[in-house]
Amino acid sequence: MAEIKCIGILTSGGDAPGMNAAIRAVTRAGIFSGFAVKGIYRGYRGLITDEIVDFKTQNVSNIIQMGGTILKTARCKEFTTPEGRQLAYDVLKREGIDALVVIGGDGSLTGARIFANEFNFPIVGLPGTIDNDLYGTDKTIGYDTALNTIMQCVDKIRDTATSHERLFFIEVMGRDAGFLALNGAIASGAEAAIIPEISTEVDQLAELIKNGFRKSKNSSIVLVAESPITGGAMGLAERVKNEFPQYDVRVTILGHLQRGGSPTAVDRILASRMGAAAIDALLEDQRNVMIGIANDEIVYVPFSKAIKNEKPINRDLLNTLRRLSI
Ligand code: ADP
Repeated sequence: MAEIKCIGILTSGGDAPGMNAAIRAVTRAGIFSGFAVKGIYRGYRGLITDEIVDFKTQNVSNIIQMGGTILKTARCKEFTTPEGRQLAYDVLKREGIDALVVIGGDGSLTGARIFANEFNFPIVGLPGTIDNDLYGTDKTIGYDTALNTIMQCVDKIRDTATSHERLFFIEVMGRDAGFLALNGAIASGAEAAIIPEISTEVDQLAELIKNGFRKSKNSSIVLVAESPITGGAMGLAERVKNEFPQYDVRVTILGHLQRGGSPTAVDRILASRMGAAAIDALLEDQRNVMIGIANDEIVYVPFSKAIKNEKPINRDLLNTLRRLSI
């Protein structure tokens, strides 16, 4: 295995709160262990166009509390082609970068995996996504902050929902995963969560209506995962208007505000631990692994597992939500 002297860091795909804390941790832990560190701007696009800067400890000062990513992020079609990846490899060679830490979601780690195999290039991934949809880690960086944002928003919407005695569908992010919707519903005391993991099993809306919503209350809040599998909040509201016109239904789509804001302590600590662990992994000659956390312990998850496997929803949580919303 060739000796690693210089590590490049990039953030890619959807931004998530805590990415900066991760950049800081990788940079500082890397320098602490004697590596040179370079920051690659705008994800894989900046890798191809050589937007690369030497990082010293000061480059990551005062960023732990900031949302977004100081390295910027981008989506890059070119990197999905062998020609694009060859250009990226040429830039890495020219810059003297011998290993990469990629912070991003499912798509970014898929790209990392392909690149690592194609060029036999050492890459360690960090799960940076509010969706929490990466297999092999209990939590992803950004998820806790997004969950807190959702909870605060739902608390506010509840005030108007109760005053007007209405049914509210609140759409939250998560792509095809229901973690934000389900845990957001529990945290905010919502009536139900409509999530993609269950959509193929039962008609969740029909079940909700059949159960008569919350019998003891005169307003209802239902969190809906954004996925096309659930129909989204708009799709469900349309169904209510047609099939159950007795309900006064309103829709709120929380949208991109879920991605922003200062990361919570949980996300800052998670990102700091994972960032430092990425350097440990490289020192231990680990390759093509994502850093995960399982039962509060750092774990190395092979890219193939993290990307390919569906992360299951904890059914106990569904049961808890049902029991508490009577
Ligand atoms: P996320 O990482 O948040 O899931 P995307 O799915 O948009 O975000 O992926 C981010 C970037 O990762 C893409 O713009 C592309 O450059 C790269 N990528 C995604 N899928 C692949 C793939 N199959 N092959 C190579 N690169 C990929």
